[in-house]
Amino acid sequence: MTKWVYFFGAGKAEGDASWRDLLGGKGAGLAEMTKIGLPVPAGFTISTEACDYFYKNGKKYPAELKKQVAENVAKLEKVTKKKLGDAKNPLLVSVRSGSARSMPGMMETILNLGLNDKSVEGLAKSVNNDRFAWDAYRRFVQMYSSVVMELPKGDLEDRLHAMKHRLNIKDDTSVPASGWKELVGEYKSFFKQKTGKDFPEDPIEQLWGAVGAVFGSWMAEKAVTYRRVEKITGLLGTAVNVMQMVFGNTGDNSGTGVCFTRNPSSGEKIFYGDYLVNAQGEDVVAGIRTPMHLTEMKRIMPKVYGQLEKVRVTLEKHFHDMQDMEFTVEDGKLYMLQTRTGKRTPAAAFQMAVDMANEKLISKEEAIMRIKPEDIERLFYPVIDAKLDKKTLESRILGTGINAVPGAAVGKVVFSAHEAEEWAKKGEKVILVRRETSPEDVGGMAVAQGILTATGGKTSHAAVVARGWGKCCIVGAEKFNIDYKSKSLTVAGKTIKEGEWVTLDGGEGIVYSGQMDLVTPAFPAAYQTLMKWADQTRRLGVRTNADTPQDARKAREFGAEGIGLCRTEHMFFTDFEFPEKGQERQRAIQEMILADNKEARVKALDKLLPFQRRDFIGIFKAMDGFPVTIRLIDPPLHEFVPHERKKQEELAKDLGLSADVVARRVEQLHESNPMLGHRGCRLAITYPEILEMQVRAIIEAAVEVKKQGIKVLPEIMHPLTLDKKEFSILEDATRRVANDIIKKSGTKLDYIVGTMIELPRAALMANEIAERAEFFSFGTNDLTQTTMGLSRDDAGRFLPDYVDEKKAGVFAADPFQSLDTKGVGMLIRWGIEKGRSSRAKLKVGICGEHGGDLDSVKFCHQVGMDYVSASPYRVPISRLGAAQAVVEEKSAKKSGKGKKK
Ligand code: ADP
Ligand code: MG
Ligand code: MG
Repeated sequence: MTKWVYFFGAGKAEGDASWRDLLGGKGAGLAEMTKIGLPVPAGFTISTEACDYFYKNGKKYPAELKKQVAENVAKLEKVTKKKLGDAKNPLLVSVRSGSARSMPGMMETILNLGLNDKSVEGLAKSVNNDRFAWDAYRRFVQMYSSVVMELPKGDLEDRLHAMKHRLNIKDDTSVPASGWKELVGEYKSFFKQKTGKDFPEDPIEQLWGAVGAVFGSWMAEKAVTYRRVEKITGLLGTAVNVMQMVFGNTGDNSGTGVCFTRNPSSGEKIFYGDYLVNAQGEDVVAGIRTPMHLTEMKRIMPKVYGQLEKVRVTLEKHFHDMQDMEFTVEDGKLYMLQTRTGKRTPAAAFQMAVDMANEKLISKEEAIMRIKPEDIERLFYPVIDAKLDKKTLESRILGTGINAVPGAAVGKVVFSAHEAEEWAKKGEKVILVRRETSPEDVGGMAVAQGILTATGGKTSHAAVVARGWGKCCIVGAEKFNIDYKSKSLTVAGKTIKEGEWVTLDGGEGIVYSGQMDLVTPAFPAAYQTLMKWADQTRRLGVRTNADTPQDARKAREFGAEGIGLCRTEHMFFTDFEFPEKGQERQRAIQEMILADNKEARVKALDKLLPFQRRDFIGIFKAMDGFPVTIRLIDPPLHEFVPHERKKQEELAKDLGLSADVVARRVEQLHESNPMLGHRGCRLAITYPEILEMQVRAIIEAAVEVKKQGIKVLPEIMHPLTLDKKEFSILEDATRRVANDIIKKSGTKLDYIVGTMIELPRAALMANEIAERAEFFSFGTNDLTQTTMGLSRDDAGRFLPDYVDEKKAGVFAADPFQSLDTKGVGMLIRWGIEKGRSSRAKLKVGICGEHGGDLDSVKFCHQVGMDYVSASPYRVPISRLGAAQAVVEEKSAKKSGKGKKK
């Protein structure tokens, strides 16, 4: 026979804290507290399995449930020495929801159940307080009517107010017994009028009504929405906790409160909480009266406070984490009603983890496991000031998009990168709004406070670039109609023109109209300590993706140990040191592309050489002593030339060509599938002079900084390789140029030549490629695209369906965000194994967006990579992930050993 009901009381419990899935968090916590001897009113828990059964069987209870509940009620009556519905000494219970994951305020609870016309007299006599008993009764009828029978709350409240008005009373606490008694009568006739039935007098009938309501609340719209938003999946349902009522509202020697074992906002080890004298639990939450702080409670009831303080110590020692507790004091006696691991701010998460490890409450390894990537993310980014009230905030929502990069940004809307730069020069704060962005836009993106695009997903150009800078970015805001001509955007009937203020919340993906205050969360010292522990624990190296000396320096601050990907193409557009020179670079690369013979190309490339060399010098200096992987030109050439006639004319004028020639050349560059087209190392196969210029710039820069006494380790990387022969041609050319420069320079310089692995064929034939390549860097953005045949720029249209559990649920997560360890991962494993079979010391890393995703980083550790490379702001997340991977590996080994015994 299935057991559906679990008892707790009198120091014993059928279950403990580890039974969360079955008993729900609340039930498991109550069982555990009972077991360790804390004062918990007795009760029983109907399991989540019963809820699961209920929904799988057309809202019918399991056959054995009735009997098991009856047995447990009898047991409860025995332990409490009270009887449900008794006229002399009645037992009252609360009926509380509680699933395995906390869903605050989402589901129902009913208090004071068991009261009827008979037992209310018993209750009044037993505490010698009519007023209290009738107040309890009306609360019960009120709650039961609204929660179980779903009668409108407002109608009930109206009757309460009318009664108070009649009696000329302001505070609930001043209502006499007769007033409450009158109200109970009114509620009951309202009940009869609405439902056609009498209010149930039988406590068992009341109980089943309440159980049904709690189960029902699991599927209530707000609960379903909450689970969707919080991504809570895979739960059986809610449990139902039936427990003896204790009363915080019997007088001034009673009360109720909520407390945390440590301060949940700062993390400080101070007892933190609120207490309300002469009140029942729900009054604290309702916020009708202002509660006092615990320090005040200590003053007025030192004895009970002392007990509570002891519970605090016991629970923390027991659960090894900060607890969030509910308690009630009835006539000077303390009762614990709930405990759970408390939610905390990111700053508090670090503070507590470090403090607890120092206190030896947890190990350093456990401390490392306590931090979530969101805790790190939310530490760095500014957010909208929480002081702004919710209503105002909601009224200003323009629309939503995909939350690509968290943080908030405020600025005036501009619709082109060029204008962004112009406005920024004048000292304006701008938000760059585009349908999509391209490498041409990076200058404008760099100066913008935040970026909003109508198309694209989390790995679109806008998202990747913005993430690299830790800049607030919302993409795929498809409802936003962006009109470049009239310089305006329209969404949901509202129009925002150039120069109007908007505020972006990149964490939530919400666009607001107007200018809001932002705050930057404080950067706690505990963060540094914990990250130091992480670094001492991890084996995986952590590098960064950085294209400029500025990014490189920022990444060093975040703990990067080198650059895993320096994309050279952004350097063709923007001069981060001398912005006014950006145009010059752009013209040089465009001249090169438009050239129709090698000579002309070389001439144009010679103009680019000094720019690239200067950039590399800056980057090498910033990365003093750490390796720098530089990727040669990668995107298809059409991305570097203008497609609008007007811009083509300007370009033609600058280069002394006819506009038609420019247009024709641009036309020729058109490809129907550019991502699979003439790009990556294929460009260097066709135009070796590009490779030669880039290698020259790299090696000359390296030689120069070396002469200045700076340690330099260049790693030259060819993108999109698919074959050993192909790579050999590139490698030979690279070495020819490099060795020649080194020889002439008279210095010694070490450098290595390797490749990205971003095509399945390259991964499959890794053993051949590794005969020549000294390192591999898995470019998992492209490798995911090419393995899955999914375009990351377009997949945003349907990929959400693939991830949505309710739709298709094919993938647990977006494969462009979290590495598809099964499929793409198989190619990676194979590539590493094959590669190292022909070159044992092959250096292996990853440089896609996945290098900054916690789970993907863990995978990289497992498959034996040497390093991961992430955008600067995600470097700390990678460091954390690499450390967590080691801790998890250790504990898996330990439990493996345990099993063998
Ligand atoms: P929630 O999960 O929304 O906090 P709870 O089930 O914890 O709902 O209950 C709501 C309030 O009622 C809480 O303040 C709680 O402490 C109080 N409460 C619940 N059960 C009892 C009880 N048996 N005696 C006294 N107060 C109770
Ligand atoms: Mg609660
Ligand atoms: Mg690539």
